[in-house]
Amino acid sequence: MSDPVEQGLSEAQKHDAWHQIAKTWLSWLADGCKTAYQQSESKEFLVFAPANYADRDALHAFLESSYQTILHHLPGITSPEGYGKHLVILLHDNDHFQRYLGYFYQQSSLPMTCDDGVFVNDGYGQLVLRAHPLADLASTIAHELTHACLTHLALPVWLDEGLADYMEDHLCGSAPFYLNDDAIGQHQAFWTPTKAQQFWQGRSFFADDDEHCGLSYHLARALVQTLLADYPPFKQFVNLANWSDAGAGAFIKVYEQPIEALLAPVFDCPAPDKAQWLK
Ligand SMILES: [Zn+2]
Repeated sequence: MSDPVEQGLSEAQKHDAWHQIAKTWLSWLADGCKTAYQQSESKEFLVFAPANYADRDALHAFLESSYQTILHHLPGITSPEGYGKHLVILLHDNDHFQRYLGYFYQQSSLPMTCDDGVFVNDGYGQLVLRAHPLADLASTIAHELTHACLTHLALPVWLDEGLADYMEDHLCGSAPFYLNDDAIGQHQAFWTPTKAQQFWQGRSFFADDDEHCGLSYHLARALVQTLLADYPPFKQFVNLANWSDAGAGAFIKVYEQPIEALLAPVFDCPAPDKAQWLK
């Protein structure tokens, strides 16, 4: 957040200043929409949704409880950092959703998994969702809200996505993790050295091909699942990991072995090699 707003303010005043800015901006947004939208707030969340959105109260309750779970379940990793309340925007139809996100993303860079919603980590971070019933949005909210609680870290995409999928499963039971013989066979047949570099770089999570994208998420989850078995070193690793080398340097520092060794039981994965990453 930029200095001019925060200069000379206490922490509480910074929160209040950004809260007021977000509310004002939402009222301008509502004025610019033909559909009637309303904002509402609870302790940690500011929600902007169609005026007739039936699940508004249930949504606030789910956001508040999920947020506390995400913060408490991954202590020392997730953080409430940032000023102002968390912003959640529910858009009435596909046209509004696409047009709104079009301001932040080129179509080609939209994550494949953002059919129902995405966390936009650009300026004042916001969760942007289609205004479906809460039952249809819960797993997306759990996943994207986890991303929102990880923005203070410089995570490689695989670690960010692995943690978000893990919390999505923990909160909603929506993506139980299995690594059986069939899944291992699929990974062995799929990953080539080139694709493995795309995984380390993070590009494979944006692949057009469903199998490439799906196996990337599954592999990320497998890595996180394995590492979570021993929390203190995992916490240290996550805090040191950097996207610029896929976390390889932090991994050696904490675990005293190369990161690719973690994947040896699944397939023969090459080490992250930045020289092969496309800009
Ligand atoms: Zn994600």
